[in-house]
Amino acid sequence: METRVLKGRPIAAGIVEEVGRRAAALAGRGVQPCLAVVCVGDDPASAIYSASIERAGGGAGIDVRVVRLPAGAGTDGAARALAALAGDPLVHGIIVQQPLPRGVDPSVVDAVPAAKDVDCAAAGSLGLLARGAEVFAPCTALAVVEALAAAAVPIEGAHVVVVGRSAVVGRPLALLLLRKGDRGNATVTVCHTGTRDLATHTLRADVLVAAMGRPEAIRGDMVREGAVVVDVGVNRVEDATAEKGFRVVGDVAFQEVLGRAAVATPVPGGVGALTTAILLRNTVRAAEARARER
Ligand code: NAP
Repeated sequence: METRVLKGRPIAAGIVEEVGRRAAALAGRGVQPCLAVVCVGDDPASAIYSASIERAGGGAGIDVRVVRLPAGAGTDGAARALAALAGDPLVHGIIVQQPLPRGVDPSVVDAVPAAKDVDCAAAGSLGLLARGAEVFAPCTALAVVEALAAAAVPIEGAHVVVVGRSAVVGRPLALLLLRKGDRGNATVTVCHTGTRDLATHTLRADVLVAAMGRPEAIRGDMVREGAVVVDVGVNRVEDATAEKGFRVVGDVAFQEVLGRAAVATPVPGGVGALTTAILLRNTVRAAEARARER
């Protein structure tokens, strides 16, 4: 079977173009959409991700304000910064970069109000998501749903197996897939490290989503012939032949899946490419909502 490689960048480009048009319309009304990216400590991966959001935001007319706090800021320092951003009428969206350093209580993100929680990270926002009433869906989970929609993969009635149950990816994705409607209504199985015989489950998937953070853990023989495979994983593996000494791979052994899956997303260039575009779209939506209130 020939595998269709589903790339995220062209889909992301369409979203970013639309965001740019909406941001320009807001600018014409004197509103500059603004996303605050809060980084506590100096995690290198967070720094790279923040820089890429800044670049993408700049290209789409979104002001990305990176707020850097030292690791020693602690929970109180982070909470003060978030309270200030929550109360700032010029800031429309707020995200807190993970991982947070030791000494910062992860529940500090709960201070982000739902109207500005453009990645649906706070407990209140996740509660609304569980109820099907969220203000914004989490960007990575929504990126998976939108990638499937863009590829015209039917979700309704499909058996989707999600490997990974984190609060950031696996769990919210399961909630999105379970809701009624044509981008939901799936039968969802969620696997994790307590799952016995993972392959029995993955082999039953019409759509298999890997969100494990384990390089190439999903092998070709764990995928049903004709299944759709979405790889959320982003993992650095050492590679002495690579210029930087490492390469980035997903949670799926992509080469083994080629010729077996009907559709597969690559890493890099798959779901990850879409996530930032969706973050910018959520930010422009937050700014539009704010402009309507004025
Ligand atoms: P995480 O918090 O570490 O969660 C990983 C999940 O996978 C856990 O639920 C874990 O199970 C499960 N898991 C790990 N190994 C497993 C195995 N061998 N068998 C079955 N389940 C297993 O990671 P995350 O934040 O969800 O991220 C997952 C991956 O997505 C990472 O590679 C991350 O870099 C990537 N990611 C990508 C984007 C993007 O924009 N593309 C965004 C966020 C994350 P337990 O719960 O039992 O431990």
